[in-house]
Amino acid sequence: MTGFSTGPRLTHMYAMVLTKIGAPLEWTELEDAAPAAGEIRVAVAACGVCRTDLHVVDGELPNPQVPIIPGHEIVGRVAAIGAGVEGLQIGERVGVPWLGHTCGVCPYCVMQRENLCDHPVFTGFTRDGGFATSVIADARFAFPLGEVGEDVALAPLLCAGLIGWRSLVIAGPGKKLGLYGFGAAAHILAQVAAWQGRSVFGFTRPGDLKAQAFARGLGAVWAGGSDEMPPEPLDAAIIFATPGGLVPQALCAMRKGGRVVCAGIHMSDIPGFPYDVLWEERELLSVANLTRQDGLDFLALAPKIGIVTSTTPYQLRQANEALADLRAGRFEGAAVLVP
Ligand SMILES: [Zn+2]
Ligand SMILES: [Zn+2]
Repeated sequence: MTGFSTGPRLTHMYAMVLTKIGAPLEWTELEDAAPAAGEIRVAVAACGVCRTDLHVVDGELPNPQVPIIPGHEIVGRVAAIGAGVEGLQIGERVGVPWLGHTCGVCPYCVMQRENLCDHPVFTGFTRDGGFATSVIADARFAFPLGEVGEDVALAPLLCAGLIGWRSLVIAGPGKKLGLYGFGAAAHILAQVAAWQGRSVFGFTRPGDLKAQAFARGLGAVWAGGSDEMPPEPLDAAIIFATPGGLVPQALCAMRKGGRVVCAGIHMSDIPGFPYDVLWEERELLSVANLTRQDGLDFLALAPKIGIVTSTTPYQLRQANEALADLRAGRFEGAAVLVP
């Protein structure tokens, strides 16, 4: 660890704030809040930019709230600790993910499916997130990250990695795995799947030869357009891209009994398709959010796999540019904001 400041406490923070759905984020100076009981304040070192941030800015998720500070792939250091917090130290590096809080008492929390909690709080959506120099988090939902790896390199693991991991587990153990949309999540998952001995088939926007080369460079045995059929039927596929038309396309690429997992929080409408596409016990399901156990499992595994993330850093003030570049598919891997 290098140079955590022990100087006077900051009294102000800066953030890129969404004040109106669809409007650019605004650079804003704010009071640096003190953490309440059970909370920590984290000095943000890096925050990844996720497709979900685009959905937040565009108002595509239910019950959008403004003003809000987006960002839920946060890597930082504990700068202040509220009452009753155990197991975290000032200066310790932590990750703050999308799942910001769960109620602990609803039927889903009780059945160990807190990702489906009836009363959740989501970082960067229903509580302020990491497009900022500082963020308040529920300490129980922050992950200790240790000191291995750079802040910027770790940030994409906090959502693309975690939700990708959950999607991979839910996709089942099949060897031939299709990944639709070769962005931040797929570029991490391709490495995980290869490490597990699976064969990855990468599907990109039709004609995006650069992304297809990127997929092959990450170990994909085949890469092509999402409108193409793979050379052989697949055991499972995970869809990270948003066009609903990918659902029947992916189902068509499945063997009998194959499983298609939709990993995105938002997709456009799924067009009608013949029942034959689903017939023969093909399965279609979605993945929502993450549980803390998903995070612990994946973050323990990530160093063993030696995941190398491909990142494009932006200054915090350039958050709008990073979002625009994500929307246009102008970089490979993940964009990461650095305060
Ligand atoms: Zn709950
Ligand atoms: Zn995300």
